[in-house]
Formats: sequence, C-alpha cells, structure tokens
Amino acid sequence: KFLSVEGIDGAGKSTHIGFITDFLESRGKTVVTSREPGGTPLGEKLRDLLLHEKMHLETEALLMFASRREHMAQVIEPALDAGSWVLSDRFTDASFAYQSGGRGLDRTKMEALEAWVHPHLQPDMTLLFDVPLEVARERLDATRTLDKFEREQEAFFARCRAEYLRRAEQFPARFVVIDSTRSIAETQARISEALEVLL
Ligand code: C5P
Repeated sequence: KFLSVEGIDGAGKSTHIGFITDFLESRGKTVVTSREPGGTPLGEKLRDLLLHEKMHLETEALLMFASRREHMAQVIEPALDAGSWVLSDRFTDASFAYQSGGRGLDRTKMEALEAWVHPHLQPDMTLLFDVPLEVARERLDATRTLDKFEREQEAFFARCRAEYLRRAEQFPARFVVIDSTRSIAETQARISEALEVLL
C-alpha cells in the first residue's frame, strides 16, 4: 500500500511519521519511508535547489514533478512491486497546496502535470494533519509577535491549508483529515484507527 502524509509547516507531520512506521512494522509490514521533494540522490539535489535557489514558479513546479518522477521510478514503484508499504512524507497534494494554493500556479497546469507524471498512481491513503494557522505558528515559534513579512507568510500558509482541505473534499475516499490540535496520544489513536482500515 502507498501512504502519503501531508500538512502545512508546523502541522506536526514529522512527529507522527515514526509512529506510523512503528505501527505498521508491529503488524508485520515492511515499510519504506521516504520524502518529497527528495527521496533519491537526484531528488535530494533537486530538493536543495528547490529550498535554496530563487526560480520561476513554473520552474519550481516542474522540478517538484521531476523529483517525484525519479522518486516513483527508484523507490515507490519498486517497493510496491516487492509488496512493501511506502510511506511518503508529502506527495502531489503538497504541490497543489504550496505551488497552486500558496504561490498561485494555475491549478489546471498542476492537474496536467499530475495526469502526465502519474496518471494511474495515487496514494491508497493520505493522512492530512490539519491545524489552524495560529497553532502551526506557535509550534514553529511560540513567543514572538509577527512582522510584516511573517504576516504575509501566514496568509501564504492559510492558502496552502485551504488547498489541502479542498483536495481532501475532492478525494474523500483516500483522504483522512486529522485534527492535529489534539494531544499526541489522541492523534496517534486517530492514526491507528485510520490505518486499521487498510490492514
Ligand atoms: O516537508 P518538509 O517540511 O521537509 O518540506 C520542506 C519545505 O518545502 C517546506 O517548508 C515546504 O514549505 C516546502 N515545500 C514546498 N512545496 C512542496 C513541498 C514542500 O514549497 N510541494
């Protein structure tokens, strides 16, 4: 099975990835964990460029999908063929959230890239860790008041979050939206319940 984990920065997704892996392994599954952008040597080079170089928005979207194509070929597809479970820290929903929702790339272009790069592959389940912006911000930085640039960033993350939730509504069969404002124990109980359905 193919699982993806999504959420805006500060939503808590990295906290739960280890838990998901341990849970599945305790049930006898072989789990390959990976991340996007990245996941392969070439993908990690692309990630470094994506996170540090200024570039045109469409260049950014194309490199995200270049990283993804390589990730599919080198990691995701071979692992699924071998009967392993794949847990990807972000997949195409993140491109919709960040490049379309956050930065404003025309969604039809994103849909065209998705249809080109993976017409048949979709996660069996996408766990979306959802938090209000104030909570995400507190987790990233608890104390300071925001300057102008950070308030713009907050609007950016609000658009990312809205796009994630729109994707979740569009694909209710694979999305599990997890209220990530709850305690870690409660969140883990919710994750276990969702994973049980797949097992
Ligand atoms: O998942 P992780 O936090 O490691 O992602 C690193 C950064 O890449 C995040 O801060 C996110 O803002 C950014 N990103 C992005 N577009 C994507 C995926 C990630 O801008 N499609």
